[in-house]
Amino acid sequence: KAGGKDQVKLASSEDGAAFALRKQLELDLWNAVEKEEMFLEYQPVASARTGEPFLFEALVRWRHPRLGVIPPADFIDLAEQSGSIVGIGGWALAAACREAAGWPAELRIAVNISPRQLEAGDFPAWVAAVLEETGLAPGRLEVEITESAYRGGLEPVAAVVADLHTLGVTVAMDDFGTGYSSLSSLQRIPFDKLKIDQSLVVRGHGDKRAVSVLRSIVTIGRALGMHVTAEGVETAEHEAFLRGIGVDSLQGFYFGPPLSAKQAMGLIKERFGRNDRDRASSVA
Ligand code: C2E
Ligand code: MG
Ligand code: MG
Ligand code: MG
Repeated sequence: KAGGKDQVKLASSEDGAAFALRKQLELDLWNAVEKEEMFLEYQPVASARTGEPFLFEALVRWRHPRLGVIPPADFIDLAEQSGSIVGIGGWALAAACREAAGWPAELRIAVNISPRQLEAGDFPAWVAAVLEETGLAPGRLEVEITESAYRGGLEPVAAVVADLHTLGVTVAMDDFGTGYSSLSSLQRIPFDKLKIDQSLVVRGHGDKRAVSVLRSIVTIGRALGMHVTAEGVETAEHEAFLRGIGVDSLQGFYFGPPLSAKQAMGLIKERFGRNDRDRASSVA
């Protein structure tokens, strides 16, 4: 019992430390963009048909002055809860579009957008302003949202998607297959793309039931005229299987990890033999 008491004390002081760290990170997040601590990496997404990259997904990272590089899994939720995600996500969208404007015109960029951003003011107008400012053609931008965007109902999301389509921007449903309302949302919102979550991909290869689920997702995607992509493609076996069931594009460590802007540009020059940065900066 005495030992138990000590354990309780220890546990609660650890909770206290974790709480303090959380609070500190929450505060730090409000200044992270201004202090230029946020940066983006770009992960290639390859065509299943050719194996060549045609799109990069922008993924944010936080270089914290004391804690080092923090992955989005450790701060996006905190930023979403506190509201600093609006500034961080706005920065990420603009930085990604600016970078992509320097790539060959056939390459697209995908940017993750959190629920608060969709709900904050006029999101489509913000996107239009960023495209205008960066000179990126609207057709080269894809916005990725997850089912967490539905917390205010499907209608507000459907309205944003319609406005983005008017601009010429496409919309992907990210982490598809992990949520609860997937099918009813597909009835009502004309997404351009389904991104099959990596957890389904990992389980899919070899597991009969999982294979059936994956095949069905591809069938639904096809029937609704959507592009179907898979994330978390880590092996040649994953690739062969996903290509075999008709997935359109593939993203994962097998095709390449998230790259720095410089590394991405290196890959682009290697694959495309040129870049359009000079043209982009002379236009801007
Ligand atoms: P996501 O949008 O589903 O992005 C895919 C995640 O899977 C990335 O993690 C990527 O690095 C990782 N990944 C890529 N290939 C593989 C693979 O072959 N195997 C495995 N196991 N993982 C792979 P990351 O970069 O840590 O990002 C995590 C999540 O954070 C993203 O998931 C996205 O939901 C969120 N996120 C990232 N950047 C932003 C952003 O700018 N704004 C918002 N709101 N969320 C972001
Ligand atoms: Mg994503
Ligand atoms: Mg995803
Ligand atoms: Mg995911």
